[in-house]
Amino acid sequence: MGLLDGKTAIIYGVANHRSIAWGIAQALQREGARLALTYQGERVEKYVRELGATLADPLILPCDVTDDAQITKVYRQVGEAFGHLDAVIHSVAFAEREDLEGRFVDTSRQGFQTALEISAYSLVAVARGALPLMTGGGSIVTMTFAGSQRAYPSYNVMGVAKAALEASVRYLASDLGPDGVRVNAISAGPINTLSARGISGFSTMHKAAGERAPLRRATTQAEVGDAAVFLVSDLSRGVTAETLYVDSGLNSVAV
Ligand code: NAD
Repeated sequence: MGLLDGKTAIIYGVANHRSIAWGIAQALQREGARLALTYQGERVEKYVRELGATLADPLILPCDVTDDAQITKVYRQVGEAFGHLDAVIHSVAFAEREDLEGRFVDTSRQGFQTALEISAYSLVAVARGALPLMTGGGSIVTMTFAGSQRAYPSYNVMGVAKAALEASVRYLASDLGPDGVRVNAISAGPINTLSARGISGFSTMHKAAGERAPLRRATTQAEVGDAAVFLVSDLSRGVTAETLYVDSGLNSVAV
């Protein structure tokens, strides 16, 4: 008996085996959920299809979250295959490399717009698209980082995007709660992924997190995956508009 038997979920954000979204996919599948994975484009399709081959009967679909037509098409295909949807996992972010180093004050207008569109607005777009399929209520989970609350070196515009993302979680939760759809964020500690390596000085941040966090270890994909199981499952039925820290306690200590 899995915690998610009979549930269906779509996961945005698998790029490779290190992706947090892949840790979540493995945990959701272990608990019995049927999964749809989306991939951003041809560049990552091969990796996502290889990973998907290890899952039970997944739906694997292209989706660039900046394109409303692709989002619409994804939900049409999910509706045809699954009939309904219980969960959306949004594990997507992007900022130009030059905006993840140096000074935040130098962020360009275009760089700011790109980071906010892909990393924050996309949650709104994928949530709206999912609603017609969430006929029995649902759970929407996104990924954030403590750089939304405090200034971390080089995190810069992504910290601003994460603040917008966390506020979007609260507004979406307020809108969708009456229909039984819960919306929450997981704030993960530093994990060594493709996106993380684009942040200048990430390896120093990762090492420091493992040394200073109360649990004295860095966060893993599997820990985030298990927290996502909780937020998707009925065990968290009273939880919405929340940011759940899965960071070995790092956010609680002075660094
Ligand atoms: P990742 O590079 O594996 O995942 C980022 C994903 O975003 C990729 O799959 C990429 O294809 C996707 N993406 C980017 N632009 C897109 C677009 N236009 N359309 C569709 N998909 C797009 O890295 P990750 O660390 O697993 O990141 C996943 C999420 O976790 C992000 O929101 C990130 O900010 C967040 N997060 C990461 C850490 C960390 O330390 N790695 C910590 C806290 C939060």
